[in-house]
Amino acid sequence: MSVDANAYHRLKAELDAQGVTLLAVSKTKPKEDIEALYQLGHRDFAENYVQELVEKQPLLPDDIRWHFIGHLQRNKVKYIASFCALIQGVDSLSLLQEINKQAQKCGRVIDVLLQVHIASEETKFGLSNDEVFALLEQASLYPNVQIKGLMGMASFTDNTEQVRQEFLTLKSIFDRVNAQGPHNRLTVLSMGMSGDYRLAITCGSTMVRVGSLLFGARS
Ligand SMILES: *Cc1c(COP(=O)(O)O)cnc(C)c1O
Repeated sequence: MSVDANAYHRLKAELDAQGVTLLAVSKTKPKEDIEALYQLGHRDFAENYVQELVEKQPLLPDDIRWHFIGHLQRNKVKYIASFCALIQGVDSLSLLQEINKQAQKCGRVIDVLLQVHIASEETKFGLSNDEVFALLEQASLYPNVQIKGLMGMASFTDNTEQVRQEFLTLKSIFDRVNAQGPHNRLTVLSMGMSGDYRLAITCGSTMVRVGSLLFGARS
């Protein structure tokens, strides 16, 4: 059992004081670790593989809010549409359309975040600035999807200044969307992980995705 209750409470208090939501990234961790954090009162958990999420979800309490933070393939949306609380990482119109369709089948409105490409690495998924605005223009056509905000992953680098610039880029897109008026009002800005959550918060993050700091290193 690798969950440290004191570390959790310290982190939670630090984030609560700043109005930032803590998302516990439980990928690769056994259900016992999730239960331990649940017992401490935590409810927001995130996974990045559909199969792993689908296996864990039925074994754990119903009132957990499950977030999906990985790259979601369209043909897998149907497996998580009935229960997923927030799908982070919508990076195409076709994915948004599929989430809308599956949400409709379940009689739900599913909350999502648009993933924005902010890292310098080619391999990271995400929309460009222009694609974010184009997608938001279409959003009203998909009533079973609610776009709540933006999500981004900074480059994997020790260069703090570069990471800061990437977070600030995301924050400025977020602010520009909200400056456009009430239609596309976004409230969630998901950025920052174990190694850079404090930096992300100084750049305007409202939700941090923390794995290893809570559960220990992944094998
Ligand atoms: C794994 C993962 C995290 C958490 O990473 P840690 O460094 O363990 O905190 C956050 N966001 C995404 C998208 C991830 O895949």
